[in-house]
Amino acid sequence: MKKHLLFLGPPGAGKGTQANLICDLNSFLHLSTGELLRKEVDMQSSLGLKVKETINSGKLVADELVLEIVRKNLLLNNKGWILDGYPRNISQANSLNNVLNELNQPLEMVFYLNLDEDILVERLLNRGRTDDNETTIRTRLEIYKKTTKPLIGYYQSQNILQYIDGDRELKIISDDIKQKMAL
Ligand code: AMP
Repeated sequence: MKKHLLFLGPPGAGKGTQANLICDLNSFLHLSTGELLRKEVDMQSSLGLKVKETINSGKLVADELVLEIVRKNLLLNNKGWILDGYPRNISQANSLNNVLNELNQPLEMVFYLNLDEDILVERLLNRGRTDDNETTIRTRLEIYKKTTKPLIGYYQSQNILQYIDGDRELKIISDDIKQKMAL
């Protein structure tokens, strides 16, 4: 079974929910950079104070700040992990490759969860996070399309990309992921 995984896709596609499910089931580490950053903001740590405004505007936090969090958390883990929300651009993907090579834990599979933009916006508006207002959602979707989407081709060319249709029931989606993890 694959145990070094990455969930890629637009905000609101269900990456966090599915990653949680699969991680609970396998005692994997769920490494969501968004969640970890929000925790820093809540704790009002020096990192939290630095990134608060950026998160609330829907823009991307500086690569080196996020890389530090990812590196620290990957060292904690042993059984397996799912990266969710990282990498968000090609430069982060290259840094991730380097870190994973150092740790001798190469990425085994990338799940690309997708959904129509209309459904994404509706879902995000209903989620009610502080960064889920209409202006921020538009910014996040634009950044996703311009900066993060090229990662699909990046991982496709490494032959580790699996497409997951996110417009289905939660359980059907997680069954689909579980089946592909066993390949
Ligand atoms: P998410 O929970 O993945 O939607 O992330 C929420 C916010 O955290 C994003 O809008 C960014 O401001 C920040 N963030 C999360 N992951 C990253 C990342 N890999 N690179 C830069 N910023 C990030």
